[in-house]
Amino acid sequence: MSNAALKKIGITGVAGRMGQMLLKTVLADPECELVGGTEYVGSPHVGADLGELVGAKVLGINIGDNPADLFEKADVVVDFTLPKATDIHLELATKHGTAWLLGTTGLSAEQDAQISKASETTPILQAANFSLGVNLLLGLVKQAAAALPEQDWDIEVVETHHNQKIDAPSGTALALGIAAAEGRDVELEDVQKLSREGVTGVRPVGEIGFATMRGGDVAGEHQVNFFGTSERIEIGHRASDRAIFAKGAIHAAKWMVGKSAGHYDMQDVLGLTD
Ligand code: NAD
Repeated sequence: MSNAALKKIGITGVAGRMGQMLLKTVLADPECELVGGTEYVGSPHVGADLGELVGAKVLGINIGDNPADLFEKADVVVDFTLPKATDIHLELATKHGTAWLLGTTGLSAEQDAQISKASETTPILQAANFSLGVNLLLGLVKQAAAALPEQDWDIEVVETHHNQKIDAPSGTALALGIAAAEGRDVELEDVQKLSREGVTGVRPVGEIGFATMRGGDVAGEHQVNFFGTSERIEIGHRASDRAIFAKGAIHAAKWMVGKSAGHYDMQDVLGLTD
């Protein structure tokens, strides 16, 4: 029986690593109602029962391949897929005015601009990382970068993820870089060094550097280093289970229900905005 008070959630990319975590989180949440889940056209998962996908009881809802159904029925569509799927989901969110929670990383600058434009008419929540810890870290990094003079302190962001991750540096590493740049009142694009090799020359003052490691099943580790002379500050976060991202995302999805158009992030959800 449908309960109008329940928050109706749809999940794109439901058979993916995050998709399955999100599905389990929604099924376990008494405030949520699952309206469906999709995969790409031609996926071997299409047609399978959503409950069986995660070892739960049969739900009688099959994995679909038409995201329009989700955007029509859901209060919020939760989307952790691939950048190539983002454009169609953005179009559907805008067409139906459905709240859209976007966790996909590795988007192009053009896609980011389109998302910002669409948020003028549609509620969109976008975050490179949905964990509470990382969102606190963003604030700490901004504060440290503002306090430490750039001529004396070099900022380097190091991240590690599992060997199936397809983009680098991670969206979270870039978000930490942006937080550091904001602390210094500069644009990250103007000071970033996303990777290094060969004869690089000496490190320019004010540069914000990134280093990436990939291996095993690491859920996500980030460390922001502030190198001074004869001293170093290290602030970091380690995720040992991707369930934290799913839990944070569904918490945020519930927060989104009934919100007006806007471009929200986790700082808004957690009430950490200035
Ligand atoms: P994954 O490859 O395991 O899952 C992606 C899923 O999307 C796959 O099942 C794939 O078949 C599906 N998919 C692809 N195209 C689709 C389409 N057109 N329609 C529907 N489904 C489609 O990847 P993952 O580890 O789950 O990560 C997914 C994304 O989420 C990545 O960009 C990753 O960086 C990001 N991520 C973000 C956070 C965060 O907190 N923001 C945390 C973890 C992962």
